[in-house]
Amino acid sequence: MIISKPIKKAIISTSKPIREMLKQHLWAKMLAAMFLGIVVGIALNPSTGWTSHEQGLIVGNWLALPGKLFLSLIQMVVVPLVFASIVQGIASNEDTVFLKKLGLRLGVYFVLTSCVAIVIGIFVTMIINPGQYMDTTGLDLYQENPLPPAAEETLDSPTIGTMPDYLINLLPNNPLHAMVNTQMLQVVIFAIIIGIALVSVKPRNSRPLLDLMDSIQSVCMTIVQWAMYIAPLAVFGLLAQIVIQVGLEALFGMAAYVATAILGLLLVLCTYCIAVFFVTGMSAAEFLRKIRPVQILAFSTSSSAAVMPLSLQTAEEELKVRPGISQFIIPLGTTINMDGTALYQAAATIFLAQVFNVDLSSTALLIILVTSVGASIGTPATPGAGIVILATILTSVGIPTAGIAIILGVDRILDMCRTSVNVTGDLTASLLMNKWLK
Ligand code: ASP
Repeated sequence: MIISKPIKKAIISTSKPIREMLKQHLWAKMLAAMFLGIVVGIALNPSTGWTSHEQGLIVGNWLALPGKLFLSLIQMVVVPLVFASIVQGIASNEDTVFLKKLGLRLGVYFVLTSCVAIVIGIFVTMIINPGQYMDTTGLDLYQENPLPPAAEETLDSPTIGTMPDYLINLLPNNPLHAMVNTQMLQVVIFAIIIGIALVSVKPRNSRPLLDLMDSIQSVCMTIVQWAMYIAPLAVFGLLAQIVIQVGLEALFGMAAYVATAILGLLLVLCTYCIAVFFVTGMSAAEFLRKIRPVQILAFSTSSSAAVMPLSLQTAEEELKVRPGISQFIIPLGTTINMDGTALYQAAATIFLAQVFNVDLSSTALLIILVTSVGASIGTPATPGAGIVILATILTSVGIPTAGIAIILGVDRILDMCRTSVNVTGDLTASLLMNKWLK
């Protein structure tokens, strides 16, 4: 094909800024990688006939290699990084009155925002009623089907009778065991206790440990920086693999349910932008531009934990949050503040109630609210964790847990979306607290 000179010139002049943008901005690289990943995934999905099922799986596995390398590098440092960041975050606030204020406000804030997200989830799902679009023939089959293995494990999650034991077990009597087993909630609690103890001892005694924490944090962040070099490649490969495996039709099949959950997540995102604007004066466009790499990385990795280091960096460098605040809120929020997950769990519960024709009384809705807040706090910040913990909520209101099998097929796409909202929630919290606690 012969391209005339002016057209060539026009192509070069328009592609130049794009190339420049790709060179300079991480988010542009990741967005391009995401798009390419989806295109390649569609092309290599067995439904096109270009590859067989087995070939697709093999190619997908190889394409995902950089992504897995990226995730392993991050996972390698996530426990020491979370621990060191929280201890430092607390200890750098030498003023204990300030600490109390921050802790208290943060606790209230996390619970309140989760409640708002859950209420949005319940309302949107009740109004749209996506359950009515589901073909319910064959549901008996689901009833008989065993649970996904991971969901079964959670069925012995706390009941009202076992709650005291559950609560006391959150306090790790062997912190090293908690660290080795990546029990993040326990690690966070241990870090908070050490941080508070450090503030309470004489500076002569706390200094060596604080220096050590500082050193651990810098070393971990350097490793994260290395991992970030391959982030676009990771995004490309992980997305290509998902689309090869799941295919786009699987995602379209339950379109109404997916659309409902995504709408709810978008509403939560809008709520964040409005809160940021009113409290800090930062426009939604500016806020979203600054946090874009974090959201894209969360979308492609489906893991708030994997994005935690980048969130920390973004909070401090882009949003100008004071380290004393961000180092406390981001690692803590990554572990316990999951508004996207809370919304998703409530929406999924209502949807399955509609599918199984379970009538939900106002008490049942209240139970969903309370258990979803608890469940989102306890959900590990890893891919697919939200759907596993969902089993707890379903049992609490008498919906067959086998319903999880129905929504499993589209969980990945929703996981990507809710993780992006989860990390946005943490960044919003640090921005707001930064402003409120001068
Ligand atoms: N993947 C989510 C996260 O890491 C948790 C979930 O599955 O909802 O934030």
